[in-house]
Amino acid sequence: MRRLPVVIPVALDQTYDYLVPRSATVEPGSFVLVPFGPQHRIGVVWDRATDSEREVPASKLKPVMEVLDVPALPTVSLRFAEWIARYTLAPLGMVVRMMMGAQAVFEPAKPRFGVRIVEGAPEPPRMTPARKRAIEIASDGLARSKATLAAEAGCSTGVIDGLVEAGVLVEVAIPEKRYPVPRPSHSTVQFGPEQERAVHALRSAVDAGNFSVTLLDGVTGSGKTEVYFEAVARALERNRQVLIMLPEIALTSQFLSRFERRFGCKPVEWHSALASAERGRVWRAAATGEARVVVGARSALFLPYRELGLIIVDEEHDQGYKQDDRVHYQARDMAVVRGSLGHCPVVLASATPSIETYVNARTGRYRHLVLPSRYSGTELPEIEAIDLRKHPPERGRWLSPVLVEAINETAAKGQQTLLFLNRRGYAPLTLCRTCGTRIECPQCSAWLVEHRFRRKLTCHHCGFALPVPEKCPKCGDADSLVACGPGVERIAEEVMERFPSARLALLSSDLIPSLTEMRKVIAAIENREADIIIGTQIVAKGHHFPDLATVGVVDGDLGLGQADPRAAERTFQLLHQVTGRAGRSFAQGRGLVQTHMPDHPVMQAIISGDREAFLDREVSQRQAATLPPFGRLAALIISARQKEVAEAYARQVVRQAPRAERIEVLGPAEAPLAVIRGRHRWRILVKSPRDVDLQTYLRAWLSAVPDPKGDLRLTVDIDPYNFL
Ligand code: ADP
Ligand code: ZN
Repeated sequence: MRRLPVVIPVALDQTYDYLVPRSATVEPGSFVLVPFGPQHRIGVVWDRATDSEREVPASKLKPVMEVLDVPALPTVSLRFAEWIARYTLAPLGMVVRMMMGAQAVFEPAKPRFGVRIVEGAPEPPRMTPARKRAIEIASDGLARSKATLAAEAGCSTGVIDGLVEAGVLVEVAIPEKRYPVPRPSHSTVQFGPEQERAVHALRSAVDAGNFSVTLLDGVTGSGKTEVYFEAVARALERNRQVLIMLPEIALTSQFLSRFERRFGCKPVEWHSALASAERGRVWRAAATGEARVVVGARSALFLPYRELGLIIVDEEHDQGYKQDDRVHYQARDMAVVRGSLGHCPVVLASATPSIETYVNARTGRYRHLVLPSRYSGTELPEIEAIDLRKHPPERGRWLSPVLVEAINETAAKGQQTLLFLNRRGYAPLTLCRTCGTRIECPQCSAWLVEHRFRRKLTCHHCGFALPVPEKCPKCGDADSLVACGPGVERIAEEVMERFPSARLALLSSDLIPSLTEMRKVIAAIENREADIIIGTQIVAKGHHFPDLATVGVVDGDLGLGQADPRAAERTFQLLHQVTGRAGRSFAQGRGLVQTHMPDHPVMQAIISGDREAFLDREVSQRQAATLPPFGRLAALIISARQKEVAEAYARQVVRQAPRAERIEVLGPAEAPLAVIRGRHRWRILVKSPRDVDLQTYLRAWLSAVPDPKGDLRLTVDIDPYNFL
């Protein structure tokens, strides 16, 4: 027998040795079933063992139970997993778990059965109209599931069963559908000179067949998608697979149809809305190479691509690329790592690049391709600030007269208006006028948000909900509760009152249950079935609404006050993206931003459209404060049910921090969101210059700290994006 190192997908950072017969060839990356404690687990065969494991005598090892008939992870996936584990300090087992896709990967695909017409079969003895319709449809000889055929014929499956009994239809296995192959030259476009230059550069990057990173930087509507599609085409011509990453919410049918127009078929999709069986199929298709182009949210990065030749990260600045549970990683950054390990080019596309990427482009670490103007030739929208101090809305209203006027003008021209407010629900706070009580979540340090459509007060941190009370829970006064501040539902209410004949579309993630539903609403807006669109940040991303002329930002200041090094950047990106939705296909659009701080640098940058000035200012501020990308940050978050327990442990952790000249340990401090789900939270921020190996420092530090006991938890967040 010989030893085989295996990684088990649990929160452990090591390999375990198992035995296989000397003669057996089990390649690294293979999936094996092994005994693990009292259970059986599926693990991944590794190509090197953890040192400590080598010392376990062979007599103590157990044999591998089975080598599974699933494509092995390619070697690059093993290296990628190790890299992520080392960088994020997550246990290797947890990273491997992300790479295993779905349980369905390991279950044999269930054969599907359906029915097909029997050639030369006699007419059934009893011919009904329903039977006739079903026979007509089935007469093309194709196999369909009973449900599909019944649906197409508008009858019950009982009718189909009857036809099977009569010998007109026969039950057959339906062959597993294969993903269609996109055709690189299905339909091409003529590029303008600037686009042409970018296309050429990207094609060469793909041809070079090695690692490079390119920032494709162009205003919304400049043709970034069209341009990177050429790189996709080139990779397809060279028989390489392609991954296109999009923020989850931008995975709309709009993008898929565009892809289809260009390449003749839909790409393979990977996102949270896929059923488990479908996930299994996509995973296998990535491994076998059947999936040529995968379009997916951040976890698509971990599929076992056999021959990946290009990675595109669209809307690379999007915060949705940061994952904040289990393994904390930044998918855009990890895409660059994957490209480097797999020797393939990476393209980062954005109209508002992240400061990190922008700095890399300016210093020459990344190539920088700029598309300066909109393809349609239309100007970028004219942006104005509405100074709420000068033009306040009436009492109890949220839209300034200036904005109302603009909506009227837009409607008079038969065009659409979008009102943007990044706040779900009706009102962020419910207050008792009599005793001053603010209704809070019983398990979080947060106010409950009123959701009037669902008649609930909900906590946005833990999901706690209660029916909207009729009297104050504290003093018992009836009719004393007032809603304070607006959410999108309240804006919708105001719009309905002010513009009773306007057709309204309200886009908020809590009101739209699924991606499929979402796609329908977006399609309705494109088809002009709405005059006024009201939405949270899900409207800001990736959509193209041809008739949208005016964008109103209800609260431009939201997000600026936060103690977050990226607050200004994020606000700028969001405002720029959302106002950029206006006037994409015809005359110039208009963006109006309601603000109390028209002189704030972020507002000034938005109004003047001077992106470079804003970026330069941000860059120099980050540099002066050694913030990312000039410095490194890591957050340690400690939580426990009891405040004293969390605090004591946090203080102990800080006391044990090794002294290091260039590393600052800040805190512990109670987290701004001090309690979530009944857990008290303390934060420690670790800060260093860029050239310090922060991971090695943290690993040494944390290995000396006693393990958190009981319900204590310690989370490490490298490159944190969330400071609450
Ligand atoms: P971005 O991704 O930068 O927002 P898109 O690629 O979506 O820009 O382009 C904006 C619009 O202009 C789309 O409708 C696109 O099809 C069109 N477009 C861009 N470039 C061309 C081109 N060279 N020929 C034809 N249409 C183009
Ligand atoms: Zn809560």
